[in-house]
Amino acid sequence: MAATPAEELETIHTLGHFINGKKVPDKNRTLSITNPATGRVTRNVACANKGMVENAVAAASSALPSWRDTEPLKRARVLFRFKQLLEEHTDEIVSLVTNEHGKTIEDSKGELIRGIEVVEYACGIPELLKGEHTPSAGPGIDSWSQFQPLGVVAGITPFNFPVMVPMWMYPMAIACGNTFVLKPSEKDPSAPSFCAKLLSDAGLPDGVFNIVNGDKETVDAILENDQIQAVSFVGSTAVAEYIYTTGTNFGKRVQALGGAKNHAVVMPDADIEQVVNALLGAAYGSCGERCMSISVVVCVGDETADACVDAMKQKLADLSIGDGNDPSSEMGPLVSSAHREKVRSYIDIGVAEGASLVVDGRGLTVEGREDGFFLGPCLFDNVSSEMRIYRDEIFGPVLCVVRVQSQETAMDLVNDHEYGNGTCIFTRDGEAAKYFSDRIKVGMVGINVPLPVPVATHSFGGWKRSLFGDLYAYGPDAIRFYTRRKTITQRWLSGGVRERLNFAFPSNPL
Ligand code: NAD
Repeated sequence: MAATPAEELETIHTLGHFINGKKVPDKNRTLSITNPATGRVTRNVACANKGMVENAVAAASSALPSWRDTEPLKRARVLFRFKQLLEEHTDEIVSLVTNEHGKTIEDSKGELIRGIEVVEYACGIPELLKGEHTPSAGPGIDSWSQFQPLGVVAGITPFNFPVMVPMWMYPMAIACGNTFVLKPSEKDPSAPSFCAKLLSDAGLPDGVFNIVNGDKETVDAILENDQIQAVSFVGSTAVAEYIYTTGTNFGKRVQALGGAKNHAVVMPDADIEQVVNALLGAAYGSCGERCMSISVVVCVGDETADACVDAMKQKLADLSIGDGNDPSSEMGPLVSSAHREKVRSYIDIGVAEGASLVVDGRGLTVEGREDGFFLGPCLFDNVSSEMRIYRDEIFGPVLCVVRVQSQETAMDLVNDHEYGNGTCIFTRDGEAAKYFSDRIKVGMVGINVPLPVPVATHSFGGWKRSLFGDLYAYGPDAIRFYTRRKTITQRWLSGGVRERLNFAFPSNPL
């Protein structure tokens, strides 16, 4: 006899936490994890309460003194081994991502590789932490700055990049000598847990990296914990602002990366075929659930708009949508049923607002995956800046085309939007591109590059309400974020020189 859903749930494994190098079960509250392609619950995840967060922080605090004093070269060696293990276990990691997030296997692989690139950058920590030195800053005086770890630091991450976004944080944080507590998204926590085990296998001492699973209760316990020195957050803007305000009120250093509405500006001289291929991947890849997804195309001139819309409409008819495990799928499902309802409601809103729905994905069903959270691609033309489908982050396979008559008007739109994460311009005119990149009020800019996600040697962050805090994620900013500067001034008097009594402010006389 088939098990009832309740009996089935009883047999489903519950993912606990990872504290002090060990898996820690937890009988507190649980949430279910669903495979978005099948709509079936696959496992549960425990939610850490305040006491469990304190256990993780205690482990991280105990591990701190010896990890902080471990030579950067030796910390780097652990990361080199970690990188190797990530490569050896690629198939398992990407399968966990696809089965909990829904994105295609190729896409999951892409996020893992971008995460590994941050690990590779962190392997250069002996070079990155060298500090600054000024010999002979004054008579017999040398001065230098060194960058010391903050202590125990935490990361809170979103569902849409379960492997890469945590890797924007912990490889650099631990390379700098901190110990870490990660709170991954409750929607797809299995891949980060798997990576925690790989870190241990790579030789990371117990307690240096810990995971507490959970939701708001767990996050609040992190924010209120006075032993945690800093918090890195990535997620939606409303939560990012809450994390920034609450975390800084509790005296922590906080960087909180938020939501986005990324515009692509298409100039009349652009190569439309190239543009359309680039736009479709950037708008509908990962079902539009990327903070750098293109969600608005601003076409300069009606001819440009007509050409783009016609070509996109034709190509979208051939888009292959299905389970991310099927190698022929180009787009998978949305992450949850609730999120699909939210995205669908925006299609209704757009129609009611008077935008032209050129491609309507609402009727889609995927054979054999009828209970999955699929939504076909949607394309709106004639969208204007007061519409909600233009203003709000929808985070789904919905692309809005806005028609304008000049580059200046296109740039005003981008600059006036509340978000400033990414943007790009398509043109063959270097002067137009330079004018755009010099004056646009956005943190990451592409020139004929639709997803200008900075490589690991640069840092990632937006402007306006896409980032709360001063420092970006990974790259050189991560060294600044995860360390505290100390400046040392040293003098050794030699040759019998004697200091005379002097009440004036120390200076090099003019
Ligand atoms: P989310 O804000 O719902 O959740 C992010 C994290 O915050 C999760 O770990 C979640 O458990 C926790 N959380 C959720 N609600 C909370 C609350 N009320 N109080 C405290 N903690 C809470 O985001 P999401 O849906 O997981 O991810 C999608 C969002 O993340 C989008 O807005 C996207 O643009 C954004 N994002 C931004 C970037 C960036 O770099 N700027 C990158 C990836 C994703």
